[in-house]
Amino acid sequence: MRDDNCIFCKIANGEIPSKTIYEDEEFRAILDLGPAAKGHALILPKDHYANLFELPDETAASVMKLAKTLGARMKEKLKADGFNLVQNNGECAGQTVFHFHLHLIPRYTDDGQKIGWKPGAPSQDELEEIRRQIAD
Ligand code: 5GP
Ligand code: ZN
Repeated sequence: MRDDNCIFCKIANGEIPSKTIYEDEEFRAILDLGPAAKGHALILPKDHYANLFELPDETAASVMKLAKTLGARMKEKLKADGFNLVQNNGECAGQTVFHFHLHLIPRYTDDGQKIGWKPGAPSQDELEEIRRQIAD
């Protein structure tokens, strides 16, 4: 499953060179060209899925397992103090490349980065209404 117009299809399948830190039959992990911190990497499936919701369940499970393995390796080798996993779906959520990818971001004390959000302040009633919308 490939999309000929997708840059991450080309990178994942080796048609465009990349700084590859890991490769197997299903995935390639590469260094991000615009890193949030030293070692920021992306796990790309070799098959084209636009986002999390297109990803088969088995691939979703495998990608998280690989994130754990690579994250542990990066933490050790790069002496990272912490780690963020980031995965954007949809333009409004910050997705810019529409081929599923999981960001692996090693973090360092005082690295000056901010990966987060402005916390809201919903009432208990608002939280309950939202809970109901999702759960029921
Ligand atoms: P998104 O915003 O879609 O979650 O993340 C896209 C990421 O891909 C960005 O962090 C961006 O720096 C990275 N990126 C975009 N194009 C390329 C590329 O051609 N090569 C590599 N290695 N990273 C890329
Ligand atoms: Zn693709």
